[in-house]
Amino acid sequence: MQVAYPDKFVDSNADNYIKLSDRIWGYAELGFSEFDSSAAHVEYLEKAGFEIKRGIAGMPTAFVAEAGSGGPVVGILGEFDALSGLSQESGALVCRTSTEIANGNGHGCGHHLLGTSAHLAAVAVKSFLETSGMPGRVRFYGCPAEEGGYGKTFMVRDGLFNDVDAALTWHPGIANQVINLNLLAVKQVYFRFKGVAAHAGVSPHLGRSALDALELMNVGVNFLREHIVPEARLHYAIINAGGTAPNVVQANTEVLYTIRAPRNRVVDEIYERVEAIAKGAAMMTGCTVDTRFDSACSNILLNTPLNELMYKHLQRLGAPDYELSEHSFADAIHQTTHREERELAGRMLTAAWRDPKPLFDAVDRYDPASAITMHGSTDVGDVSWVTPTAQCATACFAFGSSPHSWQWVSQGKSSIAHKGMLLAAKTIAATAIDLFRDPSHIEAARAELVARRDGDEYSSPVPDGVQPVRR
Ligand SMILES: [Zn+2]
Repeated sequence: MQVAYPDKFVDSNADNYIKLSDRIWGYAELGFSEFDSSAAHVEYLEKAGFEIKRGIAGMPTAFVAEAGSGGPVVGILGEFDALSGLSQESGALVCRTSTEIANGNGHGCGHHLLGTSAHLAAVAVKSFLETSGMPGRVRFYGCPAEEGGYGKTFMVRDGLFNDVDAALTWHPGIANQVINLNLLAVKQVYFRFKGVAAHAGVSPHLGRSALDALELMNVGVNFLREHIVPEARLHYAIINAGGTAPNVVQANTEVLYTIRAPRNRVVDEIYERVEAIAKGAAMMTGCTVDTRFDSACSNILLNTPLNELMYKHLQRLGAPDYELSEHSFADAIHQTTHREERELAGRMLTAAWRDPKPLFDAVDRYDPASAITMHGSTDVGDVSWVTPTAQCATACFAFGSSPHSWQWVSQGKSSIAHKGMLLAAKTIAATAIDLFRDPSHIEAARAELVARRDGDEYSSPVPDGVQPVRR
């Protein structure tokens, strides 16, 4: 039987959702403060007849919108947070602050497109469930603060994905592809050293330097680097160097550490060693140290059966057609990018596409065996540990332009971005519909999840009692 995928439904509602995406681009709100963006999503979802729970998992801008009845339950994940310091004029070919947006922020990761496309996919699935009379629920997750706040990790910790059979999402990108990246687990922790202040010239013997402790900790961690797995990453930022006076023995210092590794378990092992180094540094200097948890998220567990299903639809739909003016705009943006950015982008593609055109107008081949490790992290990781999860990317931006750059903000309201957003909505909706129509896909995806966990159970990387913090 020929399946009626909701491609036409997406096209016939496109204008309305392009408006929503452009509106959220204009709000450009930071994580946990996406009040207008969250309200705009809720306004549309209410009109579309979804049942909505707001302010979930301790986050005022988080929500869940549900439609349908019975099972299975398919979750679709949407984000809407912007980045600070990335205010940029829309459509400009140079880095130029926007006069439209007063808050200095910009949608440098395309989350205005991400949330809107996922939202539109959920509406299309709702329409399919109604017209087909098939049992099942579609649930749209409004996920705040992907950028560093890791809203989804809190949603997972609070059990909001426990009854979800599969989760689907996407990310705006520079190519049409299934996202086949191993992303790392991460944990951020503050270390605070406390010593004793004294005159650095007259009575240094009475002082205990918290700055010495902090420096010794960093030296120790820098030696540790050679003895951890090569995929791991350690970064630190000195939050408080103890003041600006060299003639005072610094009594209070603070450093923030980010620890990334391929799995939560490995992050925890490295963290224990970093903590031991901090204690050693405190002991060497006669100081004390205490720690404060900041944030964390889990690594991604890729899911081949779900990815294959998504790939089938990306191939079926194909790349959008582009006008000459769109090719020219992409060419012009492409010329503002650096050779190394373009090389890095090329490494994310299969071999056949190492040197694509400025506007990627094909579908990259999906090869489950050629997953590559990218040394970044996302809170989609936590969702992927509790329910099978798949993600695709579509070409919304010129090839070689990088996430978190002025170029991505500039291109965020372009017709290329809109076409990518609609392609993602169709891909996600059609993939969800296949899951409702043939539950064997869900069984295969769940079996894969168990295999990928490799004996590890999910335990939230966020300690009990820690609440989401607005930065
Ligand atoms: Zn992003």
